[in-house]
Amino acid sequence: MDRAILHRSLSCAPLACTKLLSCSSHRLVRRLPSLSYLPRQQHRLLQNLHNRSFLGTRLKPSISSLSVPSLNLKRHFSLPARAVASPLKDPSPEALGADDEVAEKLGFEKVSDQFLDECKSRAILYKHKKTGAEIMSVSNNDENKVFGIVFRTPPKDSTGIPHILEHSVLCGSRKYPLKEPFVELLKGSLHTFLNAFTYPDRTCYPVASTNTKDFYNLVDVYLDAVFFPKCVEDSQTFQQEGWHYELNDPTEDITYKGVVFNEMKGVYSQPDNILGRTTQQALFPDNTYGVDSGGDPQVIPKLTFEEFKDFHSKFYHPSNARIWFYGDDDSNERLRILSEYLDMFEASSAPHESRIKPQKLFAKPTRVIEKYPAAEGDDLEKKNMVCLNWLLDDKPLDLETELALGFLDHLMLGTPASPLRKILLESRLGEAIVGGGIEDELLQPNFSIGLKGVSKEDIQKVEELIISTLKTLAEEGFDSDAVEASMNTIEFSLRENNTGSFPRGLALMLRSIGKWVYDMDPFEPLKYQKPLMALKARIAEEGSKSVFAPLIEKYILNNTHLVTVEMQPDPEKDSRDEALEKEALNKIKASMTEEDLAELTRATQELRLKQETPDSPEALKVVPCLSLNDIPKEPISIPIEIGDINGVKVLKHDLFTNDVLYAEVVFDMSLVKQELLPLVPLFCQSLMEMGTKDMDFVQLNQLIGRKTGGISVYPLTSSVRGKENPCSHIVVRGKAMSNRTEDLFNLVNCILQDVQFTDQKRFKQFVSQSKARMENRLRGSGHSVAAARMDAKLNVAGWISEQMGGVSYLEFLRSLEEKIDQDWDGISSSLEEIRRSLLSRNRCLVNLTTDGNNLSKSEKYISKFLDLLPTSATPLESVSWNGRLSANHEAIIVPTQVNYVGKAANLYDVGYELKGSAYVISKYISNTWLWDRVRVSGGAYGGFCDFDTHSGVFSFLSYRDPNLLKTLDVYDATSDFLRELEMDNDTLTKAIIGTIGDVDSYQLPDAKGYSSMLRHLLGVTEDERKLRREEILTTSLKDFKEFAGVIEAVKDKGVVVAVASPDDVEAAHKERPNFFQTRKGL
Ligand SMILES: [Zn+2]
Repeated sequence: MDRAILHRSLSCAPLACTKLLSCSSHRLVRRLPSLSYLPRQQHRLLQNLHNRSFLGTRLKPSISSLSVPSLNLKRHFSLPARAVASPLKDPSPEALGADDEVAEKLGFEKVSDQFLDECKSRAILYKHKKTGAEIMSVSNNDENKVFGIVFRTPPKDSTGIPHILEHSVLCGSRKYPLKEPFVELLKGSLHTFLNAFTYPDRTCYPVASTNTKDFYNLVDVYLDAVFFPKCVEDSQTFQQEGWHYELNDPTEDITYKGVVFNEMKGVYSQPDNILGRTTQQALFPDNTYGVDSGGDPQVIPKLTFEEFKDFHSKFYHPSNARIWFYGDDDSNERLRILSEYLDMFEASSAPHESRIKPQKLFAKPTRVIEKYPAAEGDDLEKKNMVCLNWLLDDKPLDLETELALGFLDHLMLGTPASPLRKILLESRLGEAIVGGGIEDELLQPNFSIGLKGVSKEDIQKVEELIISTLKTLAEEGFDSDAVEASMNTIEFSLRENNTGSFPRGLALMLRSIGKWVYDMDPFEPLKYQKPLMALKARIAEEGSKSVFAPLIEKYILNNTHLVTVEMQPDPEKDSRDEALEKEALNKIKASMTEEDLAELTRATQELRLKQETPDSPEALKVVPCLSLNDIPKEPISIPIEIGDINGVKVLKHDLFTNDVLYAEVVFDMSLVKQELLPLVPLFCQSLMEMGTKDMDFVQLNQLIGRKTGGISVYPLTSSVRGKENPCSHIVVRGKAMSNRTEDLFNLVNCILQDVQFTDQKRFKQFVSQSKARMENRLRGSGHSVAAARMDAKLNVAGWISEQMGGVSYLEFLRSLEEKIDQDWDGISSSLEEIRRSLLSRNRCLVNLTTDGNNLSKSEKYISKFLDLLPTSATPLESVSWNGRLSANHEAIIVPTQVNYVGKAANLYDVGYELKGSAYVISKYISNTWLWDRVRVSGGAYGGFCDFDTHSGVFSFLSYRDPNLLKTLDVYDATSDFLRELEMDNDTLTKAIIGTIGDVDSYQLPDAKGYSSMLRHLLGVTEDERKLRREEILTTSLKDFKEFAGVIEAVKDKGVVVAVASPDDVEAAHKERPNFFQTRKGL
């Protein structure tokens, strides 16, 4: 329940997201493994999974609200420095680890046994003697246990085999012969992580849980799935997840359907993704990276079931597997579980066949020009992208060099103050940065940097500017404050080891696998301390210039393996692609006899029938599940002490944080005038990035980097249940080592009070970056845009958020861009006015998370900070917000090949009173009804519902959906589904346990303190939490049936918002004239 709030609040924190993502979108795009499903709880937060690497976002979701190091950095340093969440307890980890005799008896040979000081873990590498499978068994005191199995799966073409297989193996196996055991686990386990990823050269299956019994259940289901999946015998799974011809009636046209097919159509609709793919393929024309492991929608239909099966039997083999265990469970048990599976196989030649061959370096640079789909009538001249990409070496780099390059990357691009990033943006040659800097996820690393929103005639200027800036950096070196700031940021992040909601053991695994998968030492990437210290010493001794200049020269400036990618907007691309697809399908149809057509119609129906027939209760029973007795009856409690300092309310959470202080200062926003709300995100960005009278923004940012672990500022808005007025605040979030508390609060004060809103040029950059980001979001995560839009029609809090992060915001930015030059004074004084209506000691709250000793030590600094805040002597004119968008159905038209379809209504408006069962029911609807109808048979990548218990808004949403009106019909039939629902006790129990898993989601201490603060702001009491938990635990079938009547409101009174392609909207209008009001999004 609290998670929903958190996500809601983050989704309206666009500023914080940009900072972290803007310099990395390109890398992310390329490296981002395809995920098996879009986690429901994250749909609002994760704007577009395919657009972000989990190594970026997923590793540090908490980061989206905290401006700490760049993603690059994280990739080099994402290792636990110490187990922050759980201080070390007995027995000491040295004592952990399987005993050698047991291992030997079970058929494993110990290869290496090391103690990793960096993560206070004992790690043992084993080899399974019979098959050669390798196992890393990491033992420590972390209760958030992780398992992962990884296969090397290099594709030979772009049919997407590895990706389709990744989806398909989770659809039933030998021991678990039901439709989708994976979904059963999603529904009914306490997992803290459950998904699967496809990389360009490998496929990973990770799970995590804090409950040992649950953990082993998950492990067994995953092992059985990868080694003995049903999909290799059953072509219908391949059709469903991959592709098939669909023909509902012989008189209609044939279409392509398939989950991966549509998922990838969505991916290929996004310019940033196209850029990433084009770049990878151009950099590596001669090896496996020259094709797309995710699948090119134009090539996917070439894939046959035979090829699919062969790929599985070749590569999903123990000899080709690397297996990871991590946590506080019994390490003998790990080997016992594994031997049961591995012993069934003989050694194979797969490791030889799956080896990745390096790409040879080019003798001279090349250039690639690619088109991307754009909307008609845009100012296309200014919509080009250009990106320079270097393949750094013809072999993998050693750890020292990689570390130094990671550091260099952070220096050049890591923060808004970093020179390469700053110079590119200030040049005004483009709107936003593309290219993620150093990328070392594949066998050979590369470096990419460029701009988007570039005029045709400026393309060459961008290229020249990049080269000349790099030359200057090589000649002049870096400012010593900048070097110190980067070093501190890196060290802080290592010490803090904050992987957000992403399990630490998984972050570690991905880091290790990055080398291990290429037959290199899996321990080495986990031992960063020595090389980091050595680098630090070298910089101190020789100076940063002599360390970094040779790297820039050797790997970039003097490197001839340079690929320049130019991307041009093409308003006809989508329709051309569509026409090609249609033509191909028409040809197929014309070649078919009447019998063929009848057969295809029959097969289509048969597949649909199979998809829509639920598993029998007997079949479902085989998936292991916990019982209600395994579930704690009480909600997780977070220590909170409500006190006051100088008359200001202070919330204190006494938690072990490894000496880090986490602080939020929250200001009530309700005195900000309604018409100024759309300026708030830019106001927040200005605070961080405009500089003061004495310090320009570069100095300010360096100071933040040197003294703290990061500061960020963003708005937070939500409805409050039972209250007219929304909760709306601006949050200043920061963290520092406890001995830097004074510095942290001085800096927060400086940001709030001393920053001057005078830099018109920088403000202009903020606007164009925000615009570029919003446009990207509209294409890539239309579902979150649609959700925000529906909310804005249904409640004031939603309206505010939409003004600051939805279509309205985009429209505002477009008009603002024109206004800046005419009325800068007006804008500047509006920013001042926001500050005046915000900054007041009487209207703020402080939230602190750290251990008790640090809490008391911090008091005097907070008191000093609060003293410096103005008190509003004369109350400002009170303001009332009454914004709401009109409640008509809307279609937001964007150039895309897939749709995002939403429908929502406010259940409190029709008299529904919140009960805990609503959480169980909405999760159940998502995981059964919507999963089956919108995803499995509808062919969309995702379909889910979301109940905002604060506002009462219940929304249905789909993601990368080939349908539009048909999806709405599914939504409307939900109440019938509930009414007719039959459910045995096991299914109900599973639904309840799964819901508890969401409610009890694993949190690191900073997230705990933050959640507790949100509850305080939103008036969620401990008594209420207890009550809701009881209601969840006692949910009955009767509750489901009753909810059917409530949810009818969405069908009857709901508003519809679809972010959709022009063709699909036109087709919908033919079927239901004037159903939508249309609005051009892009
Ligand atoms: Zn996928």
